[in-house]
Amino acid sequence: MSEPGVRALNPGLYIVATPIGNLGDLSPRAAGILRTADLIVCEDTRVTAKLLRHVGSTRPMLACHDHSPPEVGDEVLARAASAAVALVSDAGTPLVSDPGYRLVAEARRRGVPVTTAPGPCAAIAALSIAGLPADRFFFAGFLPTRARARDHAIAALAPVPGTLVFHETGPRLAATLAALARILGPREAAIARELTKLHEEVASGTLEELAARHAARPPPKGEIVVLVAPPRDGPRASRETIEAALTHALQTMPPGKAAASVAAAFGLPRGELYARALDLARRR
Ligand code: SAM
Repeated sequence: MSEPGVRALNPGLYIVATPIGNLGDLSPRAAGILRTADLIVCEDTRVTAKLLRHVGSTRPMLACHDHSPPEVGDEVLARAASAAVALVSDAGTPLVSDPGYRLVAEARRRGVPVTTAPGPCAAIAALSIAGLPADRFFFAGFLPTRARARDHAIAALAPVPGTLVFHETGPRLAATLAALARILGPREAAIARELTKLHEEVASGTLEELAARHAARPPPKGEIVVLVAPPRDGPRASRETIEAALTHALQTMPPGKAAASVAAAFGLPRGELYARALDLARRR
């Protein structure tokens, strides 16, 4: 199907970024693809129907997400081999904490052309206004829900020499900030909320300051990205961070290897950590 002034799309899978709040952020090219594609694959047809109405698209939709049976993915890929199939998520860039990875990997494996229509992405939008280093960053998505797994994940990220970027929700924010402050120590951080929307805001401070502020407040409403600056003087870390990293490493490695891996990550002598790793392994 083609629309006046828009070339018919070649067959393939089109990964289309959609607004994270402000509909004006949909690119003209993305809108053209949504009006022209033979099929629009989405997470939730009710959410995408609103966007299609906004751009005047009447193209058919198909829901395909992480819980869809494998046949649905196969059907999508079969269609994309001979027709233009657009993939969107509820908001932002598909695949980034959203479905689509398996579809894209399998499309590439089968030789189905995959094209991007890039655009809004909450993590990148947050990084662009947080005032924290953006030359190197690590997108960590959502932290695990359980406290122990969350703490291990944070400890494993401690030595990363770039800004850490997390997706977060209001109800979990205070606990996450407390854990980040406890494990990563006094780093600069930012909370970016409701980006591109009416109540867009960025709050900055050290992790300790932000954790204290949110411990005393009701959970904030809206969508949130948390950013944490890199370790200040290279990978120097608190005793607790190193212990947590050792405990994490011991889940998959013997004490010698765990000590070597954590020592390399934190720039410490292996011998210093070996005795502690043996001790922790004995107590497991
Ligand atoms: N794929 C999306 C993207 O590229 O932005 C992210 C999807 S993920 C399921 C949803 C999370 O993204 C939210 O929980 C929040 O952490 C973040 N997010 C989405 N929209 C946002 C906004 N307008 N402001 C701040 N964070 C947002």
